[in-house]
Amino acid sequence: MSQVKFYSGENIPLELHKVRVVQKLHLVPIERRLEALYEGGFNTFRLNTTDVFLDMLTDSGTNAMSDQQTGAMQVADDAYAGSQSFFRLQKAVEEVLGKKYLLPAHQGRAAENILSKAFVKQGSLVPMNYHFTTAMAHITQYGGKIVELLYDEAYKIKSSHPFKGNMNIEKLDEVIKQHGAKNVPYIRMEASTNLIGGQPFSVQNLRDVRAIADKYGIKLVLDASLLGENVYLVKQREEEFKDKSMAEILLTMTDLADIVYFSARKLSSSRGGGICTNNHEIYRELEPLIPLFEGFLTYGGISVREIEAMAVGLRETLDETMICQSPRFIEYLANSLDAKGVPVVLPAGVLGCHVDAMQVCAHIPQSQYPAGALAAAFYLVSGVRGMERGSVSNQRDEYGNETYSDMELLRLAVPRRVFTLSQIKYVEDRMAWLYENRELIGGLKFVYEPPVLRFFMGGLEPLGDWPQKLMAKFRKDFGDSL
Ligand SMILES: *Cc1c(COP(=O)(O)O)cnc(C)c1O
Repeated sequence: MSQVKFYSGENIPLELHKVRVVQKLHLVPIERRLEALYEGGFNTFRLNTTDVFLDMLTDSGTNAMSDQQTGAMQVADDAYAGSQSFFRLQKAVEEVLGKKYLLPAHQGRAAENILSKAFVKQGSLVPMNYHFTTAMAHITQYGGKIVELLYDEAYKIKSSHPFKGNMNIEKLDEVIKQHGAKNVPYIRMEASTNLIGGQPFSVQNLRDVRAIADKYGIKLVLDASLLGENVYLVKQREEEFKDKSMAEILLTMTDLADIVYFSARKLSSSRGGGICTNNHEIYRELEPLIPLFEGFLTYGGISVREIEAMAVGLRETLDETMICQSPRFIEYLANSLDAKGVPVVLPAGVLGCHVDAMQVCAHIPQSQYPAGALAAAFYLVSGVRGMERGSVSNQRDEYGNETYSDMELLRLAVPRRVFTLSQIKYVEDRMAWLYENRELIGGLKFVYEPPVLRFFMGGLEPLGDWPQKLMAKFRKDFGDSL
């Protein structure tokens, strides 16, 4: 269904939607892009979109909306309390995620704040397959610690393992035994594990985690922000589920968790977030925190129009022809780059194509932020804005020491149904050029470093004049091309 065969034997992803509303893009000359880098502290978060051609920073809130979603936004019920829009969302959550109690939150990290506030205290340890920046920041904010329990295979850039997001079950058991179950408030499983390249876990792995949770009487929390794509990859890669529907697989997964939380900015392509459960006691425990931090229980800091879009978007995540688009474009880009020798995370995951800066910038030590440097260099030569997912995105330890990331990745996000295949080919072309000229890329240093989530607003500076040299080489090879 998601795979249309071509007579020529070419294997290119075919769009199963058409474009009806468009937005003009700006491809500014490289000289302006160099200025923009200095103005934005060599941090792609701080670029202005008038200087950005393809915005591959994130999939958060940037997926294309469907006609059904924008249509639904017109019939929203504006009310502080008791809005029908909320009840429509609740119904969609019950149908799609299989949970009857829903607590709305303004986005994913707000849900993380509520969960950490309720369950994490000094001395708590939260085992997880891998951390996500905001999930970790909230847990540590409340005095807890995290422990990441992936299998070694997950750290291999080029692998053929279908489920690099799997939790290491033996280690999970060991960690809980050592630390004491009473100090483990919950186990966190993140669908399509974001920071290791959007890598899924299998349903079988989730069942095994559930068994450990039951053994010790610990809650299992599922971060479902990227669950739709994880479900799609289970259907593609896990034998038991190849003939099951997206809806069946999704419910099989959410059934295994006590609490499911999500960023609707990703899961259902709009704004918002939420926490849901079938456990009334858990619901009661979290309920008072929503009006305190988010807003009343029937809007949670989200506009009612967005709530309507969330409800429709949730149901659309069960549509394989919709969900497959982004993973197939990513697979196409990753495989094309791999064929050109550019090191990328394989197998291709979801969310984006991840380029391995540790290899591309092997000459730049981690203390000079190779992934940040690659993100800046790639923007310079293409106008494409990616995101650093390496040591800049890490936080310092409790003593203020730098902690180096396991992986140094440049993530080129491919939000759902936003880009065309010719744009993907442009990315491939410029990345291949940059790879050939990789020796020209140099390191970065912090000149402004915020204490939490420094990657968002931090300011950096290049070490030396490598950006100017890279620009000169670009002009030599591309003439006056944009
Ligand atoms: C984005 C994301 C979050 C945080 O969601 P926001 O809506 O950006 O606050 C949490 N978990 C995962 C896996 C994410 O990808």
